[in-house]
Amino acid sequence: MQLSDRLETISRLDENQKKALKKLNLFSVHDLLFHFPVRYSDISEVRQIAELVTGETATIYGKISKLKTKKGYHSKIPMGEGEVTDLSGKIKITWFHQAYLAKMLHDGESVKLTGKVTTGKNGIYLANPEFETTTNLPIDSHNTLFNKEGFSNAGFSFPFYQESRGVTSKWFYHTIEKILRGKTLDNLQDYLPSEILKKYNLPTLKTALIWIHKPKNKDDAEMARKRFAFEEVFFIQLERQHNKLEYRKNKSFLIQSDKNEIEKFLKRFPFSLTDSQEKSIETILSDMTRTFPMSRLLEGDVGSGKTAVAATAAYVAVQNHSQAGYMAPTEILATQHFESFIQYFKHLPINIGLITGSGCRKFPSKVDPTGWTNISRAQLLKWVSSGEISILIGTHSLIQKTVKFKNLALVVIDEQHRFGTTQRMKLVRKDKIAPHLLSMTATPIPRTLALTIYGDLDLSLLSEMPSGRKKIITEIIAPNQREKTYENIRIEMTRGRQMYVICPRIDEPDPEKELALNVKSAVAEAKRLKKEIFPEYEIGVLHSKMSKEKKEKVMQDFTNGKLNILCATSVVEVGVNVPNATIIIIEGAERFGLAQLHQLRGRVIRSNHQAYCYVFAEAKSEKTIQRLTALKKARNGFELAELDLSLRGSGELGGTKQWGISDIAMEAIKNLKMVEAARIEALRLITEDPELSKYPLLKSRAQEKTGEFHFE
Ligand code: ADP
Ligand code: MG
Repeated sequence: MQLSDRLETISRLDENQKKALKKLNLFSVHDLLFHFPVRYSDISEVRQIAELVTGETATIYGKISKLKTKKGYHSKIPMGEGEVTDLSGKIKITWFHQAYLAKMLHDGESVKLTGKVTTGKNGIYLANPEFETTTNLPIDSHNTLFNKEGFSNAGFSFPFYQESRGVTSKWFYHTIEKILRGKTLDNLQDYLPSEILKKYNLPTLKTALIWIHKPKNKDDAEMARKRFAFEEVFFIQLERQHNKLEYRKNKSFLIQSDKNEIEKFLKRFPFSLTDSQEKSIETILSDMTRTFPMSRLLEGDVGSGKTAVAATAAYVAVQNHSQAGYMAPTEILATQHFESFIQYFKHLPINIGLITGSGCRKFPSKVDPTGWTNISRAQLLKWVSSGEISILIGTHSLIQKTVKFKNLALVVIDEQHRFGTTQRMKLVRKDKIAPHLLSMTATPIPRTLALTIYGDLDLSLLSEMPSGRKKIITEIIAPNQREKTYENIRIEMTRGRQMYVICPRIDEPDPEKELALNVKSAVAEAKRLKKEIFPEYEIGVLHSKMSKEKKEKVMQDFTNGKLNILCATSVVEVGVNVPNATIIIIEGAERFGLAQLHQLRGRVIRSNHQAYCYVFAEAKSEKTIQRLTALKKARNGFELAELDLSLRGSGELGGTKQWGISDIAMEAIKNLKMVEAARIEALRLITEDPELSKYPLLKSRAQEKTGEFHFE
């Protein structure tokens, strides 16, 4: 058997299995080996069904089927029934008086059950078990990964894998065991340099693969996971460091700044800078005096004043007779920035351009020197390439090939989570001159994550808000305070303020699929509020499944006050700016990450009116309360992001979805030491051997994993 063998050649697969494997992106033996368990259980504590003994209270894991409800034959009491199957056998389960429990589960779901083993007329069954579904929770929480009841140092552990209809953990377990028993791994070479393995005491690839799928004990499994977590972060670091060096090989425009001139420019802002704005400007201007291009990330909460920093950098570029570009994620934002830049630069003899999908503009207009005018794209491009337009603001179209600058010295990239290497390389000119890059983001992320995904960027933080901002009053509302809270809100509403109501779901849950009947949906909540609570107000709905036109219409109606209340999903998280909306209700808050809650709350800090955030949570676990209290107390988004990371389980980190890194890498992100080690080693290798020519295996594995290496 070879690593490259296709799965159908080593195991007979039916159509369902083929489909399932395709869905999980598993095609070869190699793929399967790298499909890691998400959790383990230990048979010494979690019982196998075949071994259950009458009278004991036991926990079992298995698949549930034959669910039904009925009335007891003699007693007529309502009952729920089902059957649970694991590797060893099956057992009946019965809930007396609680028939509805059978309706909360669905045939085919994976469950963890704890109940009393009882003998009845028709054999043994598990009586009134507590249960938890595990199907859609690949790693249900960091704790259960190695949790006490599920795992101990003694004995063998049964791995649980991310499943798909057709392939179960049992299937993975047996198929992988077959591979491990063969000689496939014998000649497997490790791509990690052996000195790194030694230094950090990490198992070799072969050992780690065996340990992760078939650990003898908890320590082995943890060591294996540690190795794979380390390598993921290490690969990302290698790629980022390599690309950073690569970009730095280019030349840049030397930008000299004149302190007095800058002072004068800053005086024109209707406010004085915060300390962190000043510090960031200083660092950026000093970066720009170097002969190689800057790659810097400016991180600061919504409203921390990133635009002023960017405008100052643009001013200095323009003073040096070169050009600046400013890229925004949406047309609305690009247009807003165009208007602010006109205010900042109107006293100077320069032209400012705007380029978006819906047209181009130039300031100043010939006819009216205080205003802008529409111009054709062709005309704009001509003026950009001749250098007559000094500052060009736009959406992504700004970096298209057709846009040629005469001497582009600075590119500001606003709110683009990661401006990938490929995009960046497009900015390098034929003569190897590249612009200074300033990326900006309002998404506060923990330091370890920033070091990893932004490893190719230098970081500056805006850690404080401009003075005089009123702190949003955040209240965590107990269910019995709901009515009273609505009355308080009504007082604000009668003053003409507007409100967001954020719900975790778009629509009513599909009863076939969802257990979570308690979770509010935007559509239903809008109806309920109109009918029961705020009949006097106009209420709109906004969510991601609506057409672009509908969304825009609703936003417009909310912006100009036609709608008083907007019931929305978390789509309002970015870029929505309605200063008169000063109240936000967040329903089902336990379902959002802290950072996301913070972003949502940021929607109502747009004016001088006191803003309110009311947080409703259904679940009242210790953890939920801890998290929500953090939201109330934290001084800024970074503090919250750190807290969020430490409070969340690894399965809730959502690495792939949010940051484009795997869940196992997110486990590493929780560990500052590991991230720093990966960074130090990556930096060392790349400095010694920028193209990794001495490490061909490592290079190809890293390329495979990150897909973003850029070689000449
Ligand atoms: P963001 O960091 O979210 O991009 P902006 O740059 O849009 O924030 O700034 C938000 C608002 O705060 C703007 O109206 C801006 O003029 C104002 N502002 C920026 N810096 C300061 C400051 N130091 N003091 C007071 N207001 C400021
Ligand atoms: Mg901004």
